[in-house]
Amino acid sequence: MSDFCRDQGPRPTLYESSRPGARCLRPPACDSAGISAAALFGAYARTSPPALPQVSELEIMRHYDHLARMNFGVDTGSYPLGSCTMKYNPRINEVAARLPGFAQLHPAQPDSTVQGALRLMYELQEDLAAASGLPGVSLQPAAGAHGEYTALMVFRAALTATGNPRKKVILPDTAHGTNPASVAMAGYDVVTVPSTEGGLVDMEALRAALDKDTAAFMLTNPNTVGIFDPQILEITRAVHEVGAFAYCDGANLNAILGITRPGDLGFDALHINLHKTFSTPHGGGGPGAGPLCVSAALAPYLPGPVAARNSEGTYERMTPSASIGRVRAALGNFAVFVRAYTYIKALGAEGLKGVAEQAVLSANYLRVCLQDSFPVAYDRICMHEFVLSGARLKAETGVSTLDIAKRLLDYGFHPPTIYFPLIVNEAMMFEPTETEPLAALDALADALKTMAEEAKTDPELLKSAPHTTPVRRLDEAQAARNPNLRVVHRFCS
Ligand SMILES: *Cc1c(COP(=O)(O)O)cnc(C)c1O
Repeated sequence: MSDFCRDQGPRPTLYESSRPGARCLRPPACDSAGISAAALFGAYARTSPPALPQVSELEIMRHYDHLARMNFGVDTGSYPLGSCTMKYNPRINEVAARLPGFAQLHPAQPDSTVQGALRLMYELQEDLAAASGLPGVSLQPAAGAHGEYTALMVFRAALTATGNPRKKVILPDTAHGTNPASVAMAGYDVVTVPSTEGGLVDMEALRAALDKDTAAFMLTNPNTVGIFDPQILEITRAVHEVGAFAYCDGANLNAILGITRPGDLGFDALHINLHKTFSTPHGGGGPGAGPLCVSAALAPYLPGPVAARNSEGTYERMTPSASIGRVRAALGNFAVFVRAYTYIKALGAEGLKGVAEQAVLSANYLRVCLQDSFPVAYDRICMHEFVLSGARLKAETGVSTLDIAKRLLDYGFHPPTIYFPLIVNEAMMFEPTETEPLAALDALADALKTMAEEAKTDPELLKSAPHTTPVRRLDEAQAARNPNLRVVHRFCS
């Protein structure tokens, strides 16, 4: 892939390749059927053509084939990006999502003509309720962060109904970055409580922060350092004692699917990222889905419409009685629902439990393979992910976690999540997922162990990595300040 890229030199963009008059397909002119665009669209008809590149179909195919070769995805190699669940997405999901009966629906069709789609969404809601232990489900939120925000708006509505929306939301310092952002968006003050040395909720600090101004406590469990907090029942009880809601960030349920349920742990609400746990493709900005599951008491406030089954056994769109309103067009990202539904039905309850067992086993296997080369932060049995520290290697060799991440690309692996969580020095967060075969885990561990040796013998090799990719090490500060795709593209030379 990289040699191919270098041989070709910089590639022009489609706009630069544009040749006036070049076309893929030449449909008959609209007027030839006796209908003019003006007659169809009236004042909305275009008066000049859109400024799109004009190229042949072959040029488009080559352009995208080239981009695909420069890309790295789960289908290319292991992608152990912690907190992101880059698991394999079975192709059967794609087959289902492309069935014309699903793909060609319009959201404005009457309910009677979309019974199958409504039934699929209803059953998906039921499946997510069963997996979460929380009976009220809205599929609308478009992603995890959107699910968090929606939950906070539901809490606000429920608290307002009892007279006081309250002022603040408490988070542990291990929270995913979207949590404080959602809290701010929902108009609450963010209060962060420190974690214990072992990465757990500090009960004393939590109790000190909880008061009658607290709307909610948000927790990821297992948390973002891969540890399941065993104090969870005590935590949710303490939150409820001040009349606040306990929120579970369930972006990633990989570790607990079929083992335990957030509802049983005392949580009032959680969002689930279908694009993580339920194997719908993500990365590159979507589309995803972050359904919100809530307790029976909160269900009337859910955004609507949701899919419902009436007494005659037919399906319809229904808006909950005290709904906060709509947070997404239609009922949400439907094609994502078809994929998640297919995944759930293909695996069955036993299969889903197997996902959790294998995800946890894979993470622990990799952790133990690597523990001599890189100290494990919070060294104990982990859940679906774990955190290593590159601090010792950096002190000994000058090679940083960033250098390790870049060098991993030369070995054909996507880097882990790095420098997160912030409380771990030179952090590397690995989530191998349940779909990686043992040989791939061994190969990843071998590459990392080899790199720890390379750092001692030839640190420059890591500091100047990657060496084999189409795009070499980028100036990250420059890339952040000047996000101009042309600049990145020109590296391919
Ligand atoms: C991925 C993730 C989110 C955010 O989900 P998006 O779909 O990217 O908005 C929130 N919390 C945790 C713990 C996550 O891993």
